[in-house]
Amino acid sequence: MRNLDQRENLSAGLPAQQAGAAPAHVTLMGAGPGDPELLTIKALRALESAELLLYDHLVSDAILALAPASAERRYVGKEASRHTLPQHEIGKLMIQLAREGRRVLRIKGGDGYIFGRGGEEAQALAAASVPFSVIPGITAAQGAAAAAGIPLTHRDHSRALVLATGHLQDNRVVDLDWEMLARPNQTVVIYMGLGTLPIICEQLIAHGLAASTPAALIERATQPEQRCVTGTLGNLPALAQSTGVKPPTLIMIGDVVSLHGQLGPAILAERS
Ligand code: SAH
Repeated sequence: MRNLDQRENLSAGLPAQQAGAAPAHVTLMGAGPGDPELLTIKALRALESAELLLYDHLVSDAILALAPASAERRYVGKEASRHTLPQHEIGKLMIQLAREGRRVLRIKGGDGYIFGRGGEEAQALAAASVPFSVIPGITAAQGAAAAAGIPLTHRDHSRALVLATGHLQDNRVVDLDWEMLARPNQTVVIYMGLGTLPIICEQLIAHGLAASTPAALIERATQPEQRCVTGTLGNLPALAQSTGVKPPTLIMIGDVVSLHGQLGPAILAERS
C-alpha cells in the first residue's frame, strides 16, 4: 500500500527530475506457479498499477493480462537453454530504468527468492543504492502440493522439507548433498531436475533411499494443463520418458507422495 498511492501519481516514462519527485524504485514480485488466483493481493495491486513490466518465461499470459494494456512489457528470459538477457544485464537494465525514473515491476514465476535469482537482483539494486521492495509469491512446490494433493509435511510421513535444484551449474555434474537428500522421514522437492532425473533417482537409491520410495512429477502445477505422474524412485525416469513430461516440472520424493492417491481425486471432485 505504502508506495502504491504515491506511485500512481508519478508521470510514467519521465526522468525523475522532470516528473517531480519520482524516486527510483524497483518492485521484485513473485507471480506464483501460474494460476492468476494464486497471486497475493499485493502482487495484484502492483500489476494493476504497473507501468513497465520485466518478466520471465514462467510468468503466464493470464497474469500479464492483469496489467494495464498501456503498460510496457519486456521479456527478459530465461529458459534453461535460452538466456534472453544474461543475469548481470538484467540487473543493469533495472538500475538504468529506475534511475530514469521508471517504475519497474520485475516479475518472476513462483517466489523470486526461491531458485529465482531474486537474491542476485536485490544485491545488484542494493549495490547501486536503488530502493526496491519485494513481494513474495507462492513457490511451485506449494502450488503443486495443493493442486496435486501432496502435503509437503505430514506428521505420519514427513518431518522436514528440502527444496533443491537439479540444474547443472556450468555443465558440471549434479553436485548435490546426496546424504542429506536421502535422509528418511522428509520430503524432497527438486526444481529444474527433469534433465537430470535419472542421476537424481540413481544417487538417492545409492545413498540409502529404497527404490520403492514414492515419487512424483508434477508438470505445470496449478495451470489448466497440469499433469501429475506418480511412481517410485525406481521407475520415475522410465515414467518420465513414457509420459513425455516437459518443463516446468517439479520432482517430489517421499512418503507424502503416497497421499496423492487419496487426496488427488478428492481435490478434482471438488473442482468439477
Ligand atoms: N522461483 C520459482 C522457481 C524457478 S526455477 C518458484 O519459486 O517456483 C524453475 C523451475 O521451477 C522449473 O524448472 C520447475 O522445476 C519449477 N516450476 C516452476 N513453476 C512450475 C509449475 N507451475 N509447475 C511445476 N514446476 C514448476
